[in-house]
Amino acid sequence: MSEAMHQCGIAAVYIKENGDSANRALFYLYKLLLNQQNRGQLSAGITTFNQKRMQVLDTYKDLGPVNEVFKTSDRQQSLEIFKRYAGNKGIGHVRYATSGSEDKSLAQPFERHHGRKWKWFSFCWNGNLANYTELKQHLLDKTDYHIVYDTDTEILMHYISRELMGQKRPNLIKAFTRLAQKLDGCYNIAFINSYGEMIILRDPYGFRPVVYGWKDDMFLAASESNALINCGVTEYKHLEPGHLIYINDGHIQIKKYAESPRKAHCMFEWVYFANVSSVLDGQSVYITRTNLGKELAKQETEKVNEDYILVPVPDTAKAAGDAMAYELKVPAAEGLIRNRFVGRTFIEGSSRDERVQNKYTALKEILDGKKVILVDDSIVRGSTTKQIVNYIKKAGGAKEVHVRISCPPIKGPCFYGIDMSTVSELLVPRYEGKPVVGEVSKEVITRVAKDLGADSLKYQSIQGLVKSIGKPAKELCMACLTGDYPTPWGKKLYMKAWENYRKGVKERTYSC
Ligand code: SF4
Repeated sequence: MSEAMHQCGIAAVYIKENGDSANRALFYLYKLLLNQQNRGQLSAGITTFNQKRMQVLDTYKDLGPVNEVFKTSDRQQSLEIFKRYAGNKGIGHVRYATSGSEDKSLAQPFERHHGRKWKWFSFCWNGNLANYTELKQHLLDKTDYHIVYDTDTEILMHYISRELMGQKRPNLIKAFTRLAQKLDGCYNIAFINSYGEMIILRDPYGFRPVVYGWKDDMFLAASESNALINCGVTEYKHLEPGHLIYINDGHIQIKKYAESPRKAHCMFEWVYFANVSSVLDGQSVYITRTNLGKELAKQETEKVNEDYILVPVPDTAKAAGDAMAYELKVPAAEGLIRNRFVGRTFIEGSSRDERVQNKYTALKEILDGKKVILVDDSIVRGSTTKQIVNYIKKAGGAKEVHVRISCPPIKGPCFYGIDMSTVSELLVPRYEGKPVVGEVSKEVITRVAKDLGADSLKYQSIQGLVKSIGKPAKELCMACLTGDYPTPWGKKLYMKAWENYRKGVKERTYSC
């Protein structure tokens, strides 16, 4: 149960034939978004295309999880939404805010209305622009723009608009090729214009996943494979970094639109973010997590006996915990039960103590008097882990708690779509006080364990992580573990993040 928050998820649906019978795109967009709810619960939205509507492109979005936004608890209201936004193609988005505020006006898609059909478009995306401040400054300095929301989505909208300027309908693939030359960071984009042309693209590094596939006459794309499978797609493909899908007049092309300097798939997608049933770039999330558990078991030094039980923190550490328990021949027990119905509500409570207790129940019947090997996926800030350890000991009566983390220590911020962009919010760097090169020292790990209230603490090794994912290290982004940022602006922001830390600046590094 990492404290690092999810980024966003995108979806796209295209049904070839026109007419009322083909107007099912919204239903499938809704399903794709529902199945990607793990990627963001702050807001959800769609834009659909329907030639019979005055508003050929029309956007609906709101704050809240997908079911709330589509009012599924009220049949009449829900039917009205599905009727009004019926169309044979469209794009969709679930959001977690890594940039900008949690305001409704920042929900995506962003639609830009215009009288010229090629300039009227809607888009949504997931990721973060590492060179956001440079892009914004350029607009302000050179072109007299007025920025309303101060979020990278707005900046991206202006840059897309600039590529579509002119008196003639532009070639969309070339427009996105030019756009990619200006951007540094992580961006997967779904785009549709009022001709009904669509683009779904993956950035040149492939930080986040994009998958696509067919179901009968329908083409679907999404961030994660589980969303496609749950829509009935039996065979799907992973979009390669630097490639896009272009759809126009019933023709679908997959094309390279930008040079890919290297692949940099975010390791955190496998460790924590993605749905456990998804497959990312050919590697199953579930299998990776069980591999991580096996690797943890290999480095275990605790002499386990009948006094021990292993408790995975639900849900994301379950696969790793179960695999580790199997290897160690120690019982895996659900000593922490997750309350699935808490959601985002004001009764969550303001203190982390209250939030942990609302979210989990510690089972005294399981934990009392036991030496607990507590397996979690990652530690970012450390405060949640501390509360869980405390809760298991106090409320559960555990005798000892040995924390095992399936991700190596997080030593640097992320500028590519995960909400941990400052040094001050990270646990290990706070102890080190300077960039950590190589392994975190035993002394620091011991101090961290003590402050967490744990009897011992062990992290996954980088080698164990790479082996578990089963991809060459050079194809992964592990920048927050190693300090080796794959893009020029990532390297720059890493320096700035440490400078900000020394100066006490708390704002997100890429937006100040
Ligand atoms: S810095 Fe870390 S969290 Fe961010 S993309 Fe790279 S591996 Fe993922």
